[in-house]
Amino acid sequence: MPVVRHRGRQPGTNKHEQQRALRPPQRSRAEEVILHRLRLGYLTLEELKDGFEERPCEHCPHMTPHPLTHYLLSCPATERLRQCVGPENAAALVRQFQKNLPLLLEVARAAPPPR
Ligand SMILES: [Zn+2]
Repeated sequence: MPVVRHRGRQPGTNKHEQQRALRPPQRSRAEEVILHRLRLGYLTLEELKDGFEERPCEHCPHMTPHPLTHYLLSCPATERLRQCVGPENAAALVRQFQKNLPLLLEVARAAPPPR
């Protein structure tokens, strides 16, 4: 029976691996999830429940019926985001930060968005 010889694969020599090496540092799965959810403009778990009226922000004393909107547009914990783009609606703010994801992630790491 003939011996099948596998050609040894040289790591880092194919085009895909070379392209990967040129990319900026990989984000963790948890960070990807945060960014994805912010892009979607999700509702929090509590907002989905019947009879939800408002809840306290996790980062300031504010009570809010729209935790994500508060988080993006008026919470002191994310003030740095708004200083960069001025007053916007939440969707425009997140769209704007597609171009500056490192800052969005830095703020979201320090003060996680509502869940
Ligand atoms: Zn807040």
